[in-house]
Amino acid sequence: MFIKQADILGIKVAALTMEQAIKKVEEFIETFPRDRHPHLIATANAEMLMRSTKDELLHKILNEADLVVPDGAGTVWAGNYLGMTMPERVAGFDLVQNLLCLAPQRKWRIFFFGSALGVAEKAAQKACHDYPGVCIVGTRNGFFTEADNEQIVAEIKEARPDILLVALGVPKQEKWLYKFLPQLDCPVSIGVGGTFDVMAGVMKRAPMWMQRAKLEWLFRGMMQPKRAGRLMALPKFVFAVRAWRQKSRREK
Ligand code: UDP
Repeated sequence: MFIKQADILGIKVAALTMEQAIKKVEEFIETFPRDRHPHLIATANAEMLMRSTKDELLHKILNEADLVVPDGAGTVWAGNYLGMTMPERVAGFDLVQNLLCLAPQRKWRIFFFGSALGVAEKAAQKACHDYPGVCIVGTRNGFFTEADNEQIVAEIKEARPDILLVALGVPKQEKWLYKFLPQLDCPVSIGVGGTFDVMAGVMKRAPMWMQRAKLEWLFRGMMQPKRAGRLMALPKFVFAVRAWRQKSRREK
């Protein structure tokens, strides 16, 4: 399935619907026995895209990823502003819920890696409650040292997941995956940020009216004061995207 991409600040972000994103995951899992290619999926919001302009490794990882979905109203706005029609926002949290819902029918095995002690387990319990028959093959918290990596990789490999969800925050989750993906032997890995926190009830997601009003970023900033400084990423992103458009036009 061919998917168009918007070039946002040098990152190729897929212009696709949630349904197409799910189809892509299905395709990645189906082709894995033949090509053994471990697919990396990133969920890009404005903050991640801004960070990639200063973090060379993150930039490289995102451009080598198999799929970068537009997680966030800012990303959808930027794609449209740059001339690509972005059909909808594909939030990481929603993508995960859709995949968990489909997992029992497809017999997909899922691994939850990341977040504070006990959170991945709670999120897994919630998944089992919400999506009966879902097969969670392992959980592991996201606080570890370099020395633990070998054992974490072995644990994941042994569990043989089809989908590995990694919640270590940006850019740690993308960098961890980039480094260990070749050893994991897992068809699809996704960096999912605060998804387990929300599933476990540790953190709230913005109410639907705020999501619809494209204000989820504001809600997250209000709920976590430590994030307040990060809210500046959004206006900075708008300026950067405008400058990016001018530069691209000049180069044409
Ligand atoms: N996290 C983790 N290990 C770390 C840092 C963060 O497991 O070393 C978890 C954290 O507990 C949270 C998730 O990563 O569940 C996402 O963190 P945050 O909201 O800071 O990141 P974002 O993805 O929003 O940038």
